[in-house]
Amino acid sequence: MERTLTILKPDCVRKQLIGAVIDKIERAGFRIVAMKKTKLTTETAGAFYAVHRERPFYGELVEFMSSGPCVPMILEKENAVEDFRKLIGATDPAEASEGTIRKLYADSKGENIVHGSDSDENARIESSFFFSTEDAV
Ligand code: ATP
Repeated sequence: MERTLTILKPDCVRKQLIGAVIDKIERAGFRIVAMKKTKLTTETAGAFYAVHRERPFYGELVEFMSSGPCVPMILEKENAVEDFRKLIGATDPAEASEGTIRKLYADSKGENIVHGSDSDENARIESSFFFSTEDAV
């Protein structure tokens, strides 16, 4: 079974949408393997998004991701990475399909409610950023 890493971002927590988003995730057939509430520092957010270091929105992204608590989770399902990205929709909620999590709940490209890994390899790297092997049950 495949796994992916998601983060319910600080806007999701601030808007009290943790339950609503988890409901969508579970109804779509994902099993929660690991979950916690945590707050990233600018250093840890910067490290998590290090691949985007050269992008113009990097500073804004790091600032936002460290602006409040977030909820990282490891999720499990057949075809988890691809199916989860379909469930959340396009990065920009204005371009996201009807019924997707970002279309339903996100305000902007920057504040877009959830993260989803973009490959199996990144899912493993990102999962180990937040969780140990013993956490993944
Ligand atoms: P994620 O990696 O969070 O699942 P994604 O793969 O849909 O998102 P990326 O292009 O990898 O999108 O960008 C990573 C994150 O950076 C986005 O989710 C968003 O929060 C932020 N971001 C992307 N583009 C912009 C932008 N133009 N302005 C502000 N923030 C942006």
